[in-house]
Amino acid sequence: MEPNLDQLFNICPEIVCVLKSNYTIQWVNPAFTRLFGWDDHRIQGRSFLDFVHAEWVPQTQQILQSSIHQTNPNFETLHCKADGNQTYLTWSFSFEPNTESIFGIARESEALKRFQEGILQENFRLTELAYTDSLTELMNRRGFLTQLQQYQSFATRTQRPLSILLLDVDYFKTFNDSYGHSAGDQALVLIAGVLKTNLRRSDLAGRYGGEEFIVCLPDSDQEGSAKVAESLRQAVDNYGWPIQDLTISIGIATAIADQDAAEPDATYKTAKELIDEADQALYHSKQSGRNCSTHYAQL
Ligand code: GH3
Ligand code: MG
Ligand code: MG
Repeated sequence: MEPNLDQLFNICPEIVCVLKSNYTIQWVNPAFTRLFGWDDHRIQGRSFLDFVHAEWVPQTQQILQSSIHQTNPNFETLHCKADGNQTYLTWSFSFEPNTESIFGIARESEALKRFQEGILQENFRLTELAYTDSLTELMNRRGFLTQLQQYQSFATRTQRPLSILLLDVDYFKTFNDSYGHSAGDQALVLIAGVLKTNLRRSDLAGRYGGEEFIVCLPDSDQEGSAKVAESLRQAVDNYGWPIQDLTISIGIATAIADQDAAEPDATYKTAKELIDEADQALYHSKQSGRNCSTHYAQL
């Protein structure tokens, strides 16, 4: 018994088609309809060239013409899909004299795949750049706020506490005025380093702007976050500063679900509310003489 080749073409991942010698499409396999996004009945009877990008029609026509006399492997051409996107396919064409048909089989071009992978990598790199502070290599404000939203949503869903620290370098203007902007920049890099070495991997640290840093502590309640804040403050205070000692002031805020409420989720603070509270607590630390930390709950 002859094997049923229809079934083979149905499961074939390659794009397969049969054309009349005038390039009219007689038959395509499911991979063809899937890739192009047209229904079978809209493809049959159309010219193969209708699916080729206008600029590529002359070369494609030439190759199809010569296929009648020879097999043409590895011919790359640009196609247009139903959704308006374009794709390069690498075709092999062969003429079948009994039925005077052109057999075509294709796959998406390796060159295209490499190109698309390159674009993806480039997009990833640009996103990283857009979210990274070039001086300290911490996340910048935009990157931090984007991630904070996700941490906040997760904490709300799981009803786990979440804390925010806002850290501001004390009298930094005086430091800059005395030692210059590049010494100031170097000090900011060192403070970022203190944050990186003293925080857990699951914590988020970012440069919020100028000489202000921000930290998100998942799973940290009021007591836990106050401890972390103190350890960071002390680490900066005890750092072996090369030119002049620097200190930081910190404001802390914590979101925690009120389990007694009818809808505990609804009692959870938003990222913006948390940052506003941490900012008020930071102001209090500055008013209290600097080089100290304050939790919003203490105000
Ligand atoms: P306070 O203790 O109240 O925070 O005083 P401060 O001097 O730190 O605060 P103020 O907001 O008056 O000044 C912040 C200074 O931080 C202003 C600017 O000289 C410095 N600064 C901000 N961003 C940068 C930066 O990227 N590089 C450097 N070198 N300095 C910066
Ligand atoms: Mg400031
Ligand atoms: Mg300051």
